[in-house]
Amino acid sequence: MNGIALSYLLLAAQMGLYAVLWTLTAWLVRSERLTCLLGAAYSLCWAAALVLFARRGVLDPWLCYTGADILVLCGFTLLWGRAYRFDRGRFPLLRWLTITLLAALLLAWVGPSLTQSHLRLLLLALFSGISGFLMICYSARPLSQQVGAPLSGLLSLLGLLAILVWGQRILMAQSLPLPSQDIPSQSHPNLVALLVVWLLTTGLQLGQFFMVVLRNTRKLNELSLRDSLTQLLNRRGFETHWQAQTDPQRALLLIDVDHFKQVNDHHGHDTGDRLLCHLAHLLQHHMGTPAILARVGGEEFAILLPGEDLANAHARAEYLRSQIAASPLVCELGILRITVSIGVASGRGSSLAELLKQADLALYLAKRRGRNCVACQQELAAQLN
Ligand code: GH3
Ligand code: MG
Ligand code: MG
Repeated sequence: MNGIALSYLLLAAQMGLYAVLWTLTAWLVRSERLTCLLGAAYSLCWAAALVLFARRGVLDPWLCYTGADILVLCGFTLLWGRAYRFDRGRFPLLRWLTITLLAALLLAWVGPSLTQSHLRLLLLALFSGISGFLMICYSARPLSQQVGAPLSGLLSLLGLLAILVWGQRILMAQSLPLPSQDIPSQSHPNLVALLVVWLLTTGLQLGQFFMVVLRNTRKLNELSLRDSLTQLLNRRGFETHWQAQTDPQRALLLIDVDHFKQVNDHHGHDTGDRLLCHLAHLLQHHMGTPAILARVGGEEFAILLPGEDLANAHARAEYLRSQIAASPLVCELGILRITVSIGVASGRGSSLAELLKQADLALYLAKRRGRNCVACQQELAAQLN
């Protein structure tokens, strides 16, 4: 076995390792399972093709030429199919099958004869070029979402350059004499091609792996900050947004549904859940940006109003209370009226814990006053005096 055949085998082993890596990732990252399994599939196609390349002159030419070329082609079409799936969330099975089968039939029609080497090479280059181009097109959007538009543009440009270099090499190869023997030759162009393939596939695999991990990490991070029922921020998300605020003047509204337990007791827990979602929707509708909304407890919600003083915050809380009281939940069970009590606090440079404590005391006061009302920090101080 000569040096180039050995290099093919080494590259095949590397592709095999990528297939293992993708399979493990599919197992770990459930939300990207099919994308990862497609990554394993194209790595395996290329690993098998490279083994067959290395065995040229030993195994049957139909297997080592036509079979290997079809495997390379499947690897390429899987590459854009995978990019499509990563971007759009589904695999274009029918389109993929049609294109792959057509291309495979064409390669089978050309056959393994050495006299057809140039035509085979040309066909393969054509399909790999088109697949590479489609992959870049389908990767552009997720890439720019993950790494930003400038870096995504640069990477796409590099990909296009790689395709151009590949195309130019194919044209060069057309002018070379036909190979006189069917063993992998150690010619200069073959070595350069091998190096280019190694660099491209390594960059591609690592890049795609990075994208899957990055998107999954972002998704998990986002999930950890959101309440799964109402999709508002949870307490941790609220704290994160609180810390990110630059304005030292802040107001806080703490909202608690009145007699919510009775809703659960009389109409069932799922109706209670629907009521919480209805309320979350009302809060979003009536507060808008830059207010930051969160569900901080069972039937407790918090709203951060950046830059607002106590008087303004109190007025907004009063408006919110009246809108909620006027917007019952309409469901199969009839019309469910809800009211809320709201505690308001504000401060300049106060910590979240301080304002939460004051708003909570004010909320307690609102409950004691008979519910469906707003109380604030000042009233609390007046009561103490
Ligand atoms: P108050 O006017 O004093 O606030 O009375 P309340 O009934 O609203 O308050 P209480 O603390 O007695 O009851 C709150 C209820 O909220 C108890 C709990 O079962 C319910 N709850 C907490 N989380 C959820 C949830 O996610 N879904 C539903 N449906 N109910 C929840
Ligand atoms: Mg409560
Ligand atoms: Mg309550």
